[in-house]
Amino acid sequence: MHWENILATRASRLKASEIRELLKLIGQPGVISFAGGIPDDALFPVTEFQQAFAALCEGENASAALQYATSEGHLPLRQWIVGEMAKLGIPCDSGNIIITSGSQQALDYLGKLLLSPGDTALVQWPTYLGALSAFNAYEPVYDRLETGALRPAESYRQAASGGRVKFAYLSSEFCNPTGESIDSKERVRLLNLARDLDIAIIEDAAYQSLRYDGEVIPPILALDIEREGSIEATRTLYCGSFSKTLSPGLRVGWVCGAKSVISRLVLMKQASDLHSGVVNQMAVADVATRAFDKQIEKIRPVYRQRRDSMLQALSREMPAGINWTRPEGGMFIWLTLPDFMDSVGLLADSLKSEKVAFIPGSAFFADRSGANSLRLSFSNSSEENIEQGIARLGRVIRQALAS
Ligand code: PMP
Repeated sequence: MHWENILATRASRLKASEIRELLKLIGQPGVISFAGGIPDDALFPVTEFQQAFAALCEGENASAALQYATSEGHLPLRQWIVGEMAKLGIPCDSGNIIITSGSQQALDYLGKLLLSPGDTALVQWPTYLGALSAFNAYEPVYDRLETGALRPAESYRQAASGGRVKFAYLSSEFCNPTGESIDSKERVRLLNLARDLDIAIIEDAAYQSLRYDGEVIPPILALDIEREGSIEATRTLYCGSFSKTLSPGLRVGWVCGAKSVISRLVLMKQASDLHSGVVNQMAVADVATRAFDKQIEKIRPVYRQRRDSMLQALSREMPAGINWTRPEGGMFIWLTLPDFMDSVGLLADSLKSEKVAFIPGSAFFADRSGANSLRLSFSNSSEENIEQGIARLGRVIRQALAS
């Protein structure tokens, strides 16, 4: 069977990358990896989840926990999220929330809802790789959304020859991969641009709770509500997740936005998987209600310390000419090497000679540019590994510069 003869055009964009092959080597003994952007499993609220799951499987509770449920998601969980959104300056009710299987599913649904083949999605340059993978299935064209250097609306419109610009996808805080955030003035400019283009904003807030220092800035959805008077008149869709705070394995995330969009997402979810796993939603609702703030207090100082250790190690170990970001939260630091360097080659060398792993930056650019950049994650490494690993990386980079 020659499957390539019958594949849909959208499937042609599903490709295993060269980087993926290299990263298979991470499992080798002795490798220190800053590649995966995942939480430290030692920080999961295990006891709280044990209690929650035990209670859910007891007596009458089990019927609801194991039965089919509504596509919107578990109501007490949506109500808890409503309370959290209010704290962020986003007044809404449970009808403004849909639960998704991680925020990754939200990105897939929003691509499906908004993109026809040839339409333009504005994305940060670099942006979250998983968003590109999700949107790719809907065959968009990408244009650069360079925060800090936004172009006039007409320029984006003209570049979208053939299709229409549909949305701007961005992380307003602690972006994966750069760790950078968008300041409040730029958030307003983004809203103005979206209004001029009459497009949606998809605000990816996966790392919202992981702020280690700096001033809290209202999310773009909060600014949009302030401007429009009600969430129902807004164009921003806020994608939240429990993956970075409670557990990524449970696959629980959400979208918050105008009911006219949420109701369409509910229909989409019905058609796609009926609803996200009920037991997981119930357990998350229980643990979030009892212990969310305590959990955030537990994980923040640990990740903050790891970020600081990595920043200090970089200052110590990196040769001149290497630059990096200083994130106020999240899990990532972004390194920029001199223009002539290629981080894919550097990863191959690095795995061979020093056994240290990272993700080459080109993975995060829609046009695969950015060869001279790379992403480091500090969230899942001990301080000792961070110090050793960055020292190794420093040696690999100095060797590459010397040759
Ligand atoms: N958005 C961003 C920016 C991410 O980094 C991730 C996870 N790597 C996701 C969304 C998806 O997370 P989840 O589906 O686990 O909520």
